[in-house]
Amino acid sequence: STAVLTEKGAKSQVDFNDIAGLKEAKAEVMEVVDFLKNPERYTKLGAKIPKGVLLVGPPGTGKTLMAKAVAGEAQVPFFSMSGSEFVEMFVGVGASRVRDLFKRAKEKSPSIIFIDEIDAVGRSRGKINAFQANDERESTLNQLLTELDGFGPNTGVIVLAATNRPDVLDKALLRPGRFDRHIYLELPTKEERIEIFGVHLRPLKLSKNVDVEVLAKLSPGFSGADIANICNEAALIAARKKKSKVEHEDFLEARDRVIGGLERKSKIISPKE
Ligand code: ATP
Repeated sequence: STAVLTEKGAKSQVDFNDIAGLKEAKAEVMEVVDFLKNPERYTKLGAKIPKGVLLVGPPGTGKTLMAKAVAGEAQVPFFSMSGSEFVEMFVGVGASRVRDLFKRAKEKSPSIIFIDEIDAVGRSRGKINAFQANDERESTLNQLLTELDGFGPNTGVIVLAATNRPDVLDKALLRPGRFDRHIYLELPTKEERIEIFGVHLRPLKLSKNVDVEVLAKLSPGFSGADIANICNEAALIAARKKKSKVEHEDFLEARDRVIGGLERKSKIISPKE
C-alpha cells in the first residue's frame, strides 16, 4: 500500500505488513500503537503514557516507515516535519512552525507527530560548528522543548523522532518526559534482507528465474531503502529492454547500479576515505 501523507495530518496507509524484519523494533513500536488505541488501560492504573520516542538507526533502515505504520495501525492522523527544513529558515519561522505543528496535532488528538532528522535541530549546543549561524536552530530546539513539556503525558499526542546520530543530541532532549524511550533499528541480516526483498517484489511481474536467496546474499550491508531501490531499478531495466517479466539478471544489473550510487555518495560525504 502507498502512503498518502501530508503535514495536515492525513491518515497513514502504511501498516506493519509493509515492514519486513525488525522484529524487536516492531514489538516495541506496537506498544506505542496500544498507548494510542487504548489509553485508559494505562491511565486507569495511574501510569503516565510516554510522550516522546526516539527511533535510532542508520539511513534507510525504516524509521520513517515505522512512524507511518504506528499512525496507520492506530488509525490516527500523522503530522510530520523534518529537522533539516529548519536549517535555512529565517529567525523565528522554525519556532512558530513547531508551535503550529503541536497545536494542530493536539486539536486532532489522538495523533502522531513525526520529526525526521531531529539531530539537525537537536544537536547539542557545544558541538556546533562556530561558522554556522545557530540562532534559528536554537530557538527551534527551545520551542520543541517547551512544546514537549507543555502537554500532559495523557493528552493522546505521541512524538516520534528519527536520528542516525543519537550521540550528538542535546541531553535536554533525552530527559525523562521528553525523548526518554529509544528504539533501535539495525541494518538487516541476510534473512531480513530476504524478507525485505519479499515486500518489494510483491508489486513486480517476476520471471521464475529470480532467486531471492542469491540476491540477499549479494547485498550485505544494504539497507531496506537500498533493497527497495534495487527492486524498482530492476523493473526499470527490464522495461527498457521491453521484457514482459523482470529477470534475475535485471536485479544483478540493478544491484551494481545501486552500489555505484552508494560509492559515489560516500565519496562525496567522506572525501578522505
Ligand atoms: P532516513 O534515515 O534516510 O530518513 P529511514 O530510516 O527513515 O531513512 P525509510 O524512509 O523509512 O528509512 O525507508 C525508506 C524506504 O526503504 C521505505 O519507504 C521502504 O520502501 C524501504 N524500507 C526500509 N526499511 C524497510 C523494511 N524493514 N521493510 C520494508 N521496506 C523497507
